[in-house]
Amino acid sequence: PFELQGRRVFVAGHRGMVGSALVRRLARENVELLTLPRSEVDLRDQTAVNAWFARKRPHVVFLAAAKVGGIAANDKLRAEFLYDNLAIAANVIHAAYVGGADKLMFLGSSCIYPRLAPQPLREDSILTGPLEHTNEPYAIAKIAGIKMVEAYRSQYGADFISVMPTNLYGVGDNYHPEYSHVVAALIRRFHEAKVSGAKNVVVWGTGAPRREFLCVDDLADACIHLMKTYSGDEPVNIGTGEDITISDFARLVATVVGYIGGISFDPSKPDGTPRKLLDIEKITKLGWRAVTPLAEGIALAYRAHLDR
Ligand code: GDP
Repeated sequence: PFELQGRRVFVAGHRGMVGSALVRRLARENVELLTLPRSEVDLRDQTAVNAWFARKRPHVVFLAAAKVGGIAANDKLRAEFLYDNLAIAANVIHAAYVGGADKLMFLGSSCIYPRLAPQPLREDSILTGPLEHTNEPYAIAKIAGIKMVEAYRSQYGADFISVMPTNLYGVGDNYHPEYSHVVAALIRRFHEAKVSGAKNVVVWGTGAPRREFLCVDDLADACIHLMKTYSGDEPVNIGTGEDITISDFARLVATVVGYIGGISFDPSKPDGTPRKLLDIEKITKLGWRAVTPLAEGIALAYRAHLDR
């Protein structure tokens, strides 16, 4: 296996939900951790990124920096999602290669798979059909990152890999009222309704879409596992293997939060992809599985949100 022990490990995006979970998880490995504040280097700035890599020479790179958000953010900030994510992926992957990094992990997303690909989504369904419109810019940038990893492997022999996490939640999530993902949105909305004694909470869309949710601490553990054990062209899906409808999920969040009022749906808001469940055969065979049950993970995220 690939050893992390004693190496300089750079987590790009260490202030985000994923990056900060990686930093917490890496505290259990014996590594020299490198992080880079945005105030020091803008990862969209190629010259600055190259200069930083030349100076710091990380051995290992976790590329968890990205512009992310929920369905409304993806749909409205289309130019930013495309440009920021393309630039970050291109700059960091190239700088890691030029700077002589031994290994890099690029984090993608389950939204890179075609909107109507067979479920559960297998890694080889990438680029077999049209994407979901709401998050197409983000998906295109992530697909470009995956293809860079593939190309740098084949042309340069770089040991770069890609992983595809399913929908994530947990400590450090973004609770923006409009631009957050569904988990943070519903935790916040049900909590505010509980506190104010509101009789109804509105959930976007029809409630029919199905999503798979993974606790970010499980994701971080999977990333460390794959960094040590996996080397290959194809991305590796990271998920739980189970999905749930948005309406059942809303009821679960209401229960965890202790909200006892009604729930209604607003079909004028987009549903997005009808279903997004990852096939986890590959990572299961590589010896990893998720351990946090959904209700427990949501309770953990809720407590962390209250403690902020
Ligand atoms: P997606 O997986 O890229 O669609 O990401 P989201 O987490 O933003 O949305 C997942 C699903 O939850 C979609 O079907 C949304 O319509 C639905 N949803 C229901 N209520 C909300 C909400 O308040 N915010 C968000 N972001 N999604 C919601």
